[in-house]
Amino acid sequence: MTLKDIKKNNYSLIYHLIYQHKKLSKQEIANLLHLSLPTVNQHLARLEKEKLIEKNGYFESSVGRRAAAYAICPQARIGIGVEIQKKKIRILAVDLWGTVFQEKELSLDYANDGHYFKQVSLEVQSFIDDLDFKKEQVLGIGFAVQALTSTDGRRIIYGKILDCTGMDIHVFSQYLEYPCKFLHDAKCAATTELWMRKDIGDAVYLSIGTHLGGAIIINDQIYMGKDGYSGTVEHMTVNPNGSLCYCGKKGCMETVCSIHVLLKESESLDFFFQQVRSGVSSYVERWKAFLENLAFSINNIRLVINRDFILGGHISPYLKEEDLVLLHEWVNEKTTFPSDEPFIYISRSNENGVPIGAAIPFIQSFLDSV
Ligand SMILES: [Zn+2]
Repeated sequence: MTLKDIKKNNYSLIYHLIYQHKKLSKQEIANLLHLSLPTVNQHLARLEKEKLIEKNGYFESSVGRRAAAYAICPQARIGIGVEIQKKKIRILAVDLWGTVFQEKELSLDYANDGHYFKQVSLEVQSFIDDLDFKKEQVLGIGFAVQALTSTDGRRIIYGKILDCTGMDIHVFSQYLEYPCKFLHDAKCAATTELWMRKDIGDAVYLSIGTHLGGAIIINDQIYMGKDGYSGTVEHMTVNPNGSLCYCGKKGCMETVCSIHVLLKESESLDFFFQQVRSGVSSYVERWKAFLENLAFSINNIRLVINRDFILGGHISPYLKEEDLVLLHEWVNEKTTFPSDEPFIYISRSNENGVPIGAAIPFIQSFLDSV
């Protein structure tokens, strides 16, 4: 390592140490990293000048002067997440902690035409303008779509729900002077989960929203596979004679395990689960049938990947422990390899999991670059 490398390395170590510990004094930094105080001072001054960290209060001390506490500036850089749905869009701003500090939802019917793309872009631009940040502080905009995207996020490789196969990110980026990319909504939900729990390792993530979407997590990373179709269990055939899926095939997991199938046209999730939890029998029956289908698919997927399952998506805030008990019981009943240990969990991310996950890749790559 050259002297320059060492300096860059110490600079980065100090920033990430403060990030992890939330607040630290100079002396603590010096102790934890085995660095001299003058070295620590030099890097702190630079980080402060670049507005990446700030003095944030003092530590209590019984002797002598109280030490200043250093913390990162969470809004030194921000990421924007946009969730594109059929009838609405959700825009939010995420800071370096991955915390949402501003959000907006708009009713806007999706259309695969220039007028729609321009309108969405203008809405996103005005949202960013209202935040009042310098242009260089906005790291980028992630567009979460119900579609499979290329690994670099530039193109939609499969988008039947929004009829957008082949679309290029240019439709939005031509109006927005920030890095823009498309991201698969199910993978966004999984990204948020990975951000919130850094200890997942390997898992299968099922995002149960209006439509179902899967993601395979290996080594705390989303595994895209050779052509980007890894984890798309939504199109796994569970009944060759079943109902027609939007993909054109019959009886995909999507046709039995998505909210769009669970709810009737006029029902909301709130209403449906109120009925279920208060024991209205027709609703309880429908819910149990849904869980049984889910158990069937979980068993199949688990035979290929023997890992934990995380249930996320718009349904996750409504799931309860009693649902997991039933699911475990039914998977164990169906499987060749029952397990006494739990292996199905509810996602920790909330209803903003998808748009947050669209912004996080920008935050993550910024943090990696410091
Ligand atoms: Zn399908």
